[in-house]
This record gives sequence, C-alpha cells and structure tokens, in this order.
Amino acid sequence: FRFPIKHYNLFQDIEDVLEEAKKAKVFALVAVAEHSGEFEKIIQLSERYPGFVLPCLGVHPVQGIPPEERCSVTLKDLDAALPLIELYKDRLLAIGEVGLDFTPRFASTDERKQEQRQVLIKQIQLAKRLDLPLNVHSRSAGRPTINLLKEQGAERVLLHAFDGRPSVAMEGVKAGYFFSIPPSIIRSEQKQKLVKQLPLECMCLETDSPALGPEKQVRNEPKNIFIAAEYIAKMKGIPVEEVIEVTTQNALKLFPKLQKFLWK
Ligand SMILES: [Zn+2]
Repeated sequence: FRFPIKHYNLFQDIEDVLEEAKKAKVFALVAVAEHSGEFEKIIQLSERYPGFVLPCLGVHPVQGIPPEERCSVTLKDLDAALPLIELYKDRLLAIGEVGLDFTPRFASTDERKQEQRQVLIKQIQLAKRLDLPLNVHSRSAGRPTINLLKEQGAERVLLHAFDGRPSVAMEGVKAGYFFSIPPSIIRSEQKQKLVKQLPLECMCLETDSPALGPEKQVRNEPKNIFIAAEYIAKMKGIPVEEVIEVTTQNALKLFPKLQKFLWK
C-alpha cells in the first residue's frame, strides 16, 4: 500500500520493526536522512531491503545528534553531503530531509535563518539538476519555506508534518505541492485543521517514526501509518480504502521513480 516516511536510523531493532511493518501490510517505506553521517547506513538498509526501504538523502536544517548538541545547519554541513548525494543519485527516491526550522532555540538570529535558506537553496538546485523530488521539513517556518520553494522553482515537493496555518498550506497546494500527514493527527488540533482544508488529492501519509506517533513520548513505527489513514477517512467521511488508494496514487505522481523501485 502506502509508505511512511521514516526519520533517522536510530532503531536498534530495525529488522523487527520492518518485519512488523510488512505484516501490517505496509508496502514500502521511505527512509530519510538528516546529516551526511547517516547516508551510508540508509543506503545499506535500502540494499538489504530492495524495493521495500526506499532511500532519501539530504541535509536537515537542524544538525547534531544528542539533543543538547542540536544546532542550526551551516553551509559547511553540505561539504561531506553533496558528493555522496551525487554518488548515490540513481538509487534515491528524493532529496530529503531538507527545509527550514525556525524554532527559536535553533534559529534565534537572522544570520542563522539566512544560512538555513542558503543550505536549502543549494539542495533545491541539486534536486532540480538530478531531477529528484524534495522531501521538506518545516517548523515554525511554514510560509518562509513555501515561499522559498516557489521562488526557487521547486516543482515536486512533499511538505512533511507541516505545522503552519491551513491558509499557508493552500499556497503550497496551488503550487502543486503535497502534504504528508502523520499518526499524531489523532492528538493534534493543528493537523486536524490542516486535513479539514486540504483536498485528499494533495495528501500523502507518513509516520515520521520515531517521532509524531499516536501517543506522545512513545516511539512511533511504520506500521502506525494506518492510524493516520483511518483518522483522515473519519474526518472526510469516506472509506479508509479510498484514503489509502488516493494517497498511494499521489505518492506515485510525486515520486516518479517509485513505480520502478517497487517492482524491481
Ligand atoms: Zn522533519
């Protein structure tokens, strides 16, 4: 069926998690990177699960692994990343996660925000050159992110876990962008408002595991994708099968290589 977007690679029991996802009838999943140190691991995982784990590589606006070392991205963080993205370009479903994160503790100054913009612009240009879609993170930066994507002429875009206002999201819809909805919708009023406005034709599903699960502070897993599907179905008053079918078609439109990867 549909695939969740998976953050990081911090699962010690990744094999079990993936088996569970298969059992739950997850068809395939997207593994995304946040920094160059994860790239090889994600590629290895996609080699171990061909056609099931689909890799994206990109440099996230927030870098550093231990929570106390998290900080805003700099142009230097691209040095190790860009050559690896080039190297693996044929295996990638998309470039991601990239984006803007203006959470005050990471990006308190204009300089930091500007540098995040520069890092994003470089990766938008790379995605265009490699003809790959973008998997985009935005936090406390909904409007600036959509504006920058449009300015730079990004065409195939997935905005994941969008935390902006529905009216801002609709600007993205007009530009042909897709929005993925995580299981945390069952406890997030903001996500519920977003889904009320967004047409199903521009929605995808994600889990964002290990974050954004149905329960706060509990590790999220790919198999929970169906919780998001069911909640959207309930809100839109349509069968869950329709949500799964339409979001799958949307994903195929957004990620043209998906078809090829799934049946290889
Ligand atoms: Zn993210």
